Amino acid sequence: MPEAIADSNRISGIGTADVAVIGAGVVGCAVTRRLALLGARVVLLEKAPDILAGASKGNSALLHTGFDAPPGSLECALMQRGHAEFLDIRERLGLPLLETGAMVVAWNEAEEDELDAIEAQARRNGVGDVVRLGRREVLAREPALAPHLRGAVLVPREHVIDPWSTPLAYLTQALANGAQALFGAEVCGGSFDGEAWTLQTARGAVRAARIVNCAGLQGDRIERLLLGDASFEIRPRKGQFVVFDKPAAGLLTTILLPVPTERTKGIVLTRTIYGNLLVGPTAEEQDERDRATIEAETLAALIAKAVEFVPALDGMPVNAAYAGLRPATERKEYRIRHEKDRHWITVGGIRSTGLTAALGLAAHVAELLAGEGWQASPLEDPVWTPVPNLAEHRPRDWQAPNHGEIVCHCEMVTRREIEATFASPLPPGDFGGLRRRTRAAMGRCQGFYCGARLAELTAGRLAEPLAAGDADA
Ligand SMILES: Cc1cc2nc3c(=O)[nH]c(=O)nc-3n(C[C@H](O)[C@H](O)[C@H](O)COP(=O)(O)OP(=O)(O)OC[C@H]3O[C@@H](n4cnc5c(N)ncnc54)[C@H](O)[C@@H]3O)c2cc1C
Repeated sequence: MPEAIADSNRISGIGTADVAVIGAGVVGCAVTRRLALLGARVVLLEKAPDILAGASKGNSALLHTGFDAPPGSLECALMQRGHAEFLDIRERLGLPLLETGAMVVAWNEAEEDELDAIEAQARRNGVGDVVRLGRREVLAREPALAPHLRGAVLVPREHVIDPWSTPLAYLTQALANGAQALFGAEVCGGSFDGEAWTLQTARGAVRAARIVNCAGLQGDRIERLLLGDASFEIRPRKGQFVVFDKPAAGLLTTILLPVPTERTKGIVLTRTIYGNLLVGPTAEEQDERDRATIEAETLAALIAKAVEFVPALDGMPVNAAYAGLRPATERKEYRIRHEKDRHWITVGGIRSTGLTAALGLAAHVAELLAGEGWQASPLEDPVWTPVPNLAEHRPRDWQAPNHGEIVCHCEMVTRREIEATFASPLPPGDFGGLRRRTRAAMGRCQGFYCGARLAELTAGRLAEPLAAGDADA
């Protein structure tokens, strides 16, 4: 790891932290933020060189209302808390929102029969603003849809957000308010002496009074490693996606959701915050936790599905494809394990709704800690740290003067944005992190044209130098 990165991550003067959070996915970033704002000395430990190395790097980026969540579940409650807090704080953190709404569309008679139940469940879950639409109303709203559809349930408060800037903003604010983050710090052992934990990490020992395990796809292994047993088993569920090029996004305004099945919310068609159109994810069980491959056959099937729903997508250029792994378990519900005596909380099995629920989960963790007597001293005037905008519908840096140069012409990323990200309190640790902070090399050429210039600009600044094929990161 280059010295600059190691230096910026050194734990300094923390002594025994109040809380060590394991894992810098969206959940760990949100928990770290919440605890820092409550006045805790908190340290985040992440094995990768950057945030978002696990499940959080590849999702659908929908801010859910919980309309279709299991009624009465913790997942439903925390999604709704997360949704509300996100809307409350997003402007202060510079986070964009596409207020698209979503439609659960029925494409045949059997699916149409399900719409009543979907509407009833939404109301039972407190999502009372759902609206039943007939075929003509749906087509009036979305004229590009295939005309054989039967009807839909409109869920107005389902939105599209920025999946990468959101956790970045949470952790950036946490750091500005006293939290510390250590990257390249895989937790590989540890013990509890009755008062505090001593964790062995790849960057040395870290002492903390309490642990919050947010290790996502490794959450059960962390429990086994440190507690001796695991309260659940991670069963990774892969989701593959196809990203259509920018012109496709003009074909749709509302998120299209299918009538869900027991196992999955199904294939979604949605605009992205970066101005593309996304189709996916699949739901494929696999054993491997570290690698999510994409398969040509599956991608072709996704494209065919998208064309079936929106015929004008036929022949539209595709920008990219990616896959994410959901940290699913043998049960649907979130897996929260709270061991007061061992000063331990696991926030596990945050399957397919964690981007939405992260702030709710963070509030839940704070309540569990308060319940065991931890005294919070909330910051009176916390620092707010807006992150740079990556959303296509908001002003971008290339439109402002003196940006230096446009480095990535597909996504219109400037040299000033790249330099700013390295000068930020949370610089990228690897090339994937640079892409997720700037959109560089995320466009149609996938870095073919800007790769050499990016390599120059990032020389010595990333954990691994840029090489051919890195655009897949
Ligand atoms: C295909 C797909 C679509 C989705 N769509 C949506 C959506 O539209 N809306 C929504 O709200 N949610 C969605 N999600 C869900 C959301 O992305 C996940 O719930 C969320 O990313 C889980 O985050 P996490 O922080 O729990 O885990 P992760 O992101 O996996 O984070 C865990 C972190 O722990 C680190 N770690 C692991 N072991 C160790 C160790 N020993 N030491 C230190 N660090 C360690 C990992 O490197 C990783 O960075 C989707 C997920 C997928 C996969």
